[in-house]
Amino acid sequence: MSAAWELVVLGVMQDGGLPHPGCACDRCDAAADGERQREHVACLGLTDGQRAYLFDATPDLGHQLRLLGAGRPDGIFLTHAHIGHVMGLLYLGREALGARGVPVYATAAMQSFVRDNAPWSSLVEQGRVRLFPNESVDLGGVRVSAFQVPHRPEHSDTVGYRIEGPTRTAIYIPDIDGWDAWETDIRDLVAEVDVALLDATFLSPDEFPHRDPSEIPHPFAIDTMERLADVADRVWLTHLNHTNELLDDPAPATERGFRVAREGERIAL
Ligand SMILES: [Zn+2]
Ligand SMILES: [Zn+2]
Ligand SMILES: [Zn+2]
Repeated sequence: MSAAWELVVLGVMQDGGLPHPGCACDRCDAAADGERQREHVACLGLTDGQRAYLFDATPDLGHQLRLLGAGRPDGIFLTHAHIGHVMGLLYLGREALGARGVPVYATAAMQSFVRDNAPWSSLVEQGRVRLFPNESVDLGGVRVSAFQVPHRPEHSDTVGYRIEGPTRTAIYIPDIDGWDAWETDIRDLVAEVDVALLDATFLSPDEFPHRDPSEIPHPFAIDTMERLADVADRVWLTHLNHTNELLDDPAPATERGFRVAREGERIAL
């Protein structure tokens, strides 16, 4: 008999991580110099103590498997083709894990991206991964379903995931262009679930004194919190950019009843 299913936060950063490449801001310098802990790219694990699944394959996949207590993933659910979400798939290849037949769940467009482009295509050709649709996957006790979200579609479409456990349901949306760009009302969606891990890349336009906020393709967390004030206790903010002050001071979120996700935290399903 296996233990109960739970989600594990395996990283909370935007694709560039902390320290962010090329950045010499105080926070990145502190992480680089060891004065502050480094942070890993946004990723969610799902495990029952025996099987271990990943939501996204980040550049920190090795660390994240270790944190999940898994030697190899039993499956990987991909959200989209930006580097922080797919680059880690390459670690399944001969140079690292040398995996065999790891199920990778993705949309048709995302499957084409992997199948048709080197170096990802060699993972398919060598049988290291097997591609499956992600609309609805029954893992035996947990059902995982993908839903489309609007997000810069350079190489693929983008999805969020709904993860339905025996007693609780969570959604995971690490990247979205904006809540108003979506036909789904995020308030309705969060009202239906127990936990919502949501894109909080930027806290506010103050992070871009020289840019037009309307050109930033993410919802600002201050707007997200206003919108979801009635369901604040269900929301975990994640996918934080290195410029986001919530990394060092969660008060602007916690004072409103929201939570800033931290690596290692677990959510019972
Ligand atoms: Zn991202
Ligand atoms: Zn920085
Ligand atoms: Zn992205």
